[in-house]
Formats: sequence, structure tokens, C-alpha cells
Amino acid sequence: MNDCPRCQAPLERLTMGEVTTISCTRCGFADVPVDHESQGGEGESWQDAFNRFYNHYSGH
Ligand SMILES: [Zn+2]
Repeated sequence: MNDCPRCQAPLERLTMGEVTTISCTRCGFADVPVDHESQGGEGESWQDAFNRFYNHYSGH
């Protein structure tokens, strides 16, 4: 997972604030890893959204 998809060299992880990028120092490949679980607390959950939707249409 942490190997470069181009040249299989170990990727270097760079963190800039809240953004983490991975880059390969050998070939220059760079990417942003998709990791939704690590973001946490990104607004309302599915359950909250559903409840809001449900209450909106059943409240009147
Ligand atoms: Zn590479």
C-alpha cells in the first residue's frame, strides 16, 4: 500500500496541516491517499441525515 505504483519504491508521506500526501522520491509520483476513516467527524452521519429527511416530510 505504501509502495509506489510506478516503481515500487517506498513512498514518503508528507503531512501539510490536515492534508496528507504521499510521494515517491525516486520517480516523482505523488498522490493523496483516500482514507475516509481517518477524517472522522465530517459533519452529520447517515443516521442524522436520514432522521432530518424523515422528520421534514412527516412533520407537516
Ligand atoms: Zn516511484
